[in-house]
Amino acid sequence: MKNIAVIGSGTMGNGIAHVFAQNDYKVSLIDISPEALEKALKTIEKNLDRQLSKGKISEDLKSQTLHNITTFSSLEEGLKDIDLVVEAATENVELKLKIFAQIDQICQENTLLASNTSSISITKIAAATQRPDKVIGMHFMNPVPVMQLVEVIRGYATSDEVTSRIMTLSEKLGKIPVEVNDYPGFVANRILMPMINEAIYTLYEDVSGVTQIDAVMKLGMAHPMGPLQLADFIGLDVCLSILKVLYEGFGNPKYAPCPLLVNMVTAGKLGVKSGEGFYSYAHGTKDLIVADNFKK
Ligand code: NAD
Repeated sequence: MKNIAVIGSGTMGNGIAHVFAQNDYKVSLIDISPEALEKALKTIEKNLDRQLSKGKISEDLKSQTLHNITTFSSLEEGLKDIDLVVEAATENVELKLKIFAQIDQICQENTLLASNTSSISITKIAAATQRPDKVIGMHFMNPVPVMQLVEVIRGYATSDEVTSRIMTLSEKLGKIPVEVNDYPGFVANRILMPMINEAIYTLYEDVSGVTQIDAVMKLGMAHPMGPLQLADFIGLDVCLSILKVLYEGFGNPKYAPCPLLVNMVTAGKLGVKSGEGFYSYAHGTKDLIVADNFKK
């Protein structure tokens, strides 16, 4: 595999393009939004500069990495002679089904199709194509250039050969792939989201405050970030939508989203991206200031 297409150049897409390009793959980065493409290139350059200043990469590798990325705003142009597509567009079932049906038509027969979805069924995405054996989940973690894990998700029809090629490819990117089967939330979010939901319930039932709940998990369980701060970083809307996938997928009330989470999302308090969640980010993300609603 040499030529990779990344669809979607947002938070995850730019990181995925960065990592492939840095490992000498040719990357077509595709987005419907020209502004998103422009922003992605700036972010990649900024992140490469950070790696350069820490002595992790050379000036040559920085320019080679940037040279390996070409941007496109149409699928037809960006998908010529591609060996692997990694889709990282907005998390929306209808959108992903439409994109996979399109790329299945455009790409040559042997192109592998991966999705970076956090929660949508790979089996469902694969069913929108005529090549379900060649569709797989490649769930990178945020920030992609830093985090080591790739959760490799086998859909119901994904072949052994395709799984093995994606595991090897992930290792070539310097990542550690972990193979899992396609059930709601896969492994990462099936374990993480109930923990975050329980932390929100603990706050909702006034067992303790925001700072205290996060402190228990940081100091007691050696988590680098408390669950409420992590929820703010992931986005409370994203947490809610993954919990709904778990709740609907298993039909088990233990995954029911906490009413406080539902209220916050309805009120537009989405965490870091909206400027407020459990904490307030009016002055950036460095100092943790509890949001007014949760001040005692
Ligand atoms: P984002 O909103 O930052 O970026 C999505 C990009 O997709 C946008 O730039 C948008 O213009 C583009 N897009 C939308 N429709 C498109 C189309 N038809 N063709 C091409 N581009 C299109 O989203 P994100 O946070 O980068 O998430 C992308 C995917 O990665 C989602 O499936 C999400 O679940 C998954 N994911 C996100 C995280 C995270 O922490 N943000 C972590 C792991 C996985």
